[in-house]
Amino acid sequence: KQGLLHSDQIFLYLHKVRVELSQLAFTYVTLLSFLADQEVNYSDPEFLDGFVNYGFNAMLSRSLGPEREVPDTRDKRCHYKHYSHRLPTASIIICFYNEEFNALLRTVFSVVYLTPPHLLEEIVLVDDMSTFDDLKEKLNYFLERFRGKVKLVRNKKREGLIRAKMIGASHASGEVLVFLDSHCEVNRVWLEPLLDAIARDSRTVVTPLIDVIDDLSLAYSPSPLVRGAFDWNLQFRWDNVFSYEMDSPEGPTNPIRSPAMAGGIFAIHRPYFYELGQYDKDMDIWGAENLELSLRIWMCGGQLFVIPCSRVGHITKRHLQTDIPLRNAMVRNYLRVVHVWLDEYKEQFFLRSPGLKSMTYGNISERVQLRKQLGCKSFQWYMETVFPELEASMNS
Ligand code: UDP
Ligand code: MN
Repeated sequence: KQGLLHSDQIFLYLHKVRVELSQLAFTYVTLLSFLADQEVNYSDPEFLDGFVNYGFNAMLSRSLGPEREVPDTRDKRCHYKHYSHRLPTASIIICFYNEEFNALLRTVFSVVYLTPPHLLEEIVLVDDMSTFDDLKEKLNYFLERFRGKVKLVRNKKREGLIRAKMIGASHASGEVLVFLDSHCEVNRVWLEPLLDAIARDSRTVVTPLIDVIDDLSLAYSPSPLVRGAFDWNLQFRWDNVFSYEMDSPEGPTNPIRSPAMAGGIFAIHRPYFYELGQYDKDMDIWGAENLELSLRIWMCGGQLFVIPCSRVGHITKRHLQTDIPLRNAMVRNYLRVVHVWLDEYKEQFFLRSPGLKSMTYGNISERVQLRKQLGCKSFQWYMETVFPELEASMNS
């Protein structure tokens, strides 16, 4: 094990890669504290370069290449589950912005190899105007082998994740839309349980159980059974599932009712995605869209489940550079959720972030109108029915 990287070395390195001055201090401190107890050769410039540009160990990702096998993390009881013979077809939508080339390809390869061909309508890749060179011609070349199965859409300007997903959906023709991040690896029999739940009820939206791919070692490991939750700052967190829900013999294979989804990995019946109003197209770059969609699903007549027999690995990136445009977009996105969906409970949010009360969030009348038109229930109803723990935590 090597000692902590000499601070001058890191500083010089970061200077070399021209991280903006305003971000330098932040990145430097984050990287340093993170690397303090890691057993890697972090004096290697390629390693550091990878971490700064991609938010994970891109150097190792390159050496893994575009395909590998991951451990089957499902509960044994999942092996004996039977799914309908007439499942709907799926379009897999993967948006990416400056993704590491091999991580992106592993996402595509794992889907191609582990999805029954008759269920895979297509994979739609949406390049959100990436600037990295290897995602241009070289990517076209690599995808040649999947001609007919993989569509690549290139945005003419950076739209941000939210609009990029809507663009992906508009190119899809499968009965179900499945959204994945561009640094995932799907597991065995990952799609069937998702499609089966939607086939039973088209207003059911489902997410796989997200396994963890370590950002440093890229090791794939199982996650415990969890549901998605959030606090009064609207910060997402995982929440343990009550043991009584697991008590039956089938327990660990049963869908888990989930107040919220973690991010952008989920499956939804395509007509239902449109009926429900897609996404808020005035949200920019990244953030809060997962919460907005979760509230809309529950409050407007749908339901949201985690399906534990469906496993998808995801690299949790270390976002080292939170730039100012991103921060501004996040604040604006969260405020749009607060003002459209939280009713009188928005005061709970502002109690914790009083500074945000006077901030602008654009015009929300279209989304307010949508809520009316869909006949959605109140936030009070959502708390009482779906997420009583949130109400209980009001005074903490
Ligand atoms: N993404 C995008 N445009 C953007 C920002 C992100 O297409 O402006 C993509 C990104 O490449 C990834 C997905 O959206 O595939 C989700 O982003 P990320 O993984 O950063 O989110 P997280 O997993 O941290 O929630
Ligand atoms: Mn991600």
